[in-house]
Amino acid sequence: MVLVEVVTVAEELENRYDVAVVGGGAAGLAGALMLGRSRRSVVVIDAGEPRNAPARGVHGLLGLEGISPSALLERGREEVRGYGVDLRQGEVEAAARDGSGFALTLKDGAAVRARRLLVTTGLVDQLPDLPGLRVRWGRDVLHCPYCHGHEVRDQAIGVLASGPMSVHQALLFRQLSADVTYFTHTMPAPTDEQHEQLMARGITVVEGEVTSVESSGDRLVGVRLADGTLARRAALVVASRMVARAGFLSALGLRPVEHPSGMGQHIPADPTGRTEVPGVWVAGNVTDLAGQVSTSAAAGAMAGAQINADLVGEETARAVAEQRDPFSADSEQRVCELVLGDRRHGQ
Ligand SMILES: Cc1cc2nc3c(=O)[nH]c(=O)nc-3n(C[C@H](O)[C@H](O)[C@H](O)COP(=O)(O)OP(=O)(O)OC[C@H]3O[C@@H](n4cnc5c(N)ncnc54)[C@H](O)[C@@H]3O)c2cc1C
Repeated sequence: MVLVEVVTVAEELENRYDVAVVGGGAAGLAGALMLGRSRRSVVVIDAGEPRNAPARGVHGLLGLEGISPSALLERGREEVRGYGVDLRQGEVEAAARDGSGFALTLKDGAAVRARRLLVTTGLVDQLPDLPGLRVRWGRDVLHCPYCHGHEVRDQAIGVLASGPMSVHQALLFRQLSADVTYFTHTMPAPTDEQHEQLMARGITVVEGEVTSVESSGDRLVGVRLADGTLARRAALVVASRMVARAGFLSALGLRPVEHPSGMGQHIPADPTGRTEVPGVWVAGNVTDLAGQVSTSAAAGAMAGAQINADLVGEETARAVAEQRDPFSADSEQRVCELVLGDRRHGQ
């Protein structure tokens, strides 16, 4: 009888972590680093498609300026491995409540259980649907002046009006080049105030729909307008619609909502990454659509520390209860966990 009970507890503890981090980009790995260093049992489950994968280098990152996106993450994975964090390649398809914790189901059918969740799955950039645009994304079709603006300084830059921030983007890129053209495309024409600003900064406004993005020999050539004209440009700035990758959270009651900026959808959270669902934290682009690599990593580290503090609070309350009543059912369960502790995660 006692044996059966112990086996049940062992099964329960199998594959059960203090924290499961879903997403192994800058935010997830930084969170895992804080948690691993806090001697938490942590698994990072990562589908391996970071948002900036098409880019040659990560810019605006102090100390590692220009490092390739893949080299940065490989370095991060090495660092968290050093603190005993498990890394698992895979895509989480569903998350559900499991007692006081969570159960994750992966696309390959595997299950992972954890006391807390840190969701750092990033976002999807929904690009304007124009022939020839997607293949240049992250190369010479750009969105962010801080990520790639310096690399196209002084060049002929086009801005394709494609979102509520497009005029703002044009003004920011004007800081990097005197040759900026704003294509109104299918968006409403700039307001009088915006038009005045664009004119004052020497930004040419071209009205009419853009029908394709033209390139030759692995370089952008320009954009083709509906009247057949080719407007030659070396780089094209677009505003993607940014949508949090968080469909797997719906059973927990967490769904992406419209971001107040109008730029897309995100999972809201407080400044520490805590969501409205107890036990679930978010960090990086999944909640902060404008987040860079450095700010995503910082948010992941903050969330990791907060999760550790939350677990410490729970464990302290439990220890106090055990101290008061050493023979309670909770205390016995705790003893079982301690006995089986060294059989977890192949340690
Ligand atoms: C083209 C481009 C270039 C950029 N260049 C720069 C730059 O130079 N400097 C800069 O600071 N920022 C840059 N950025 C922004 C940068 O990409 C983001 O700030 C950063 O990637 C956010 O990190 P993250 O960890 O939140 O998300 P991501 O890096 O996108 O990582 C999320 C991870 O979660 C995984 N994932 C998603 N869903 C699941 C799931 N269900 N199960 C398991 N795993 C999942 C993904 O596969 C991915 O590996 C660029 C963005 C783009 C689009």
